[in-house]
Amino acid sequence: MSKQITKRTKVEMAKSPQGIEGPGFFATKMEEVIGLARANSLWPLPFATSCCGIEFMATMASHYDLGRFGAERLSFSPRQADMLMVMGTIAKKMGPTLRQVYEQMAEPRWVLAVGACATSGGIFDSYSVLQGIDRIIPVDVYVPGCPPRPEQILEGVLKIQELAKNESLRRRNSPEYKKLLASYGIE
Ligand code: SF4
Repeated sequence: MSKQITKRTKVEMAKSPQGIEGPGFFATKMEEVIGLARANSLWPLPFATSCCGIEFMATMASHYDLGRFGAERLSFSPRQADMLMVMGTIAKKMGPTLRQVYEQMAEPRWVLAVGACATSGGIFDSYSVLQGIDRIIPVDVYVPGCPPRPEQILEGVLKIQELAKNESLRRRNSPEYKKLLASYGIE
């Protein structure tokens, strides 16, 4: 029993970036430190409209515990969030609201499309359902499944963490990124 408790309470520290180490000092690149901080303190905005949202609730609860990855602070205010998690069927009527939420988020921001509906409209190949949120906003990571299990959602968050950690500080000002936003009509 005590062994099991020891195993379950073991906390793994985030790996430090590459650098030069000596007695009493550690030197690395600013970009690496910022990437490490961003990746391990993501603030998710859950945009949950249907069943995939229930899987998200399980992902947040104690068994799967998204907080282990530094992402337990949910924000329902776009200005205080940097990871938009879209979970569920998005009706075309809801599209402008989703886009407004995205536009109100500050840079750098990442988008996770959770489940078949957010990714491609899923089984709802109908006139009223958006056939994938990437028709209106750029998506960084897609999580497949109907519904995806919490493990898959966690994997999606880990992929976002990788992107955040390795992203160049100049990316958001680059012509390529501006071109991507312009292709969505976003300034
Ligand atoms: S992908 Fe499946 S589980 Fe998720 S919202 Fe759509 S129908 Fe529901």
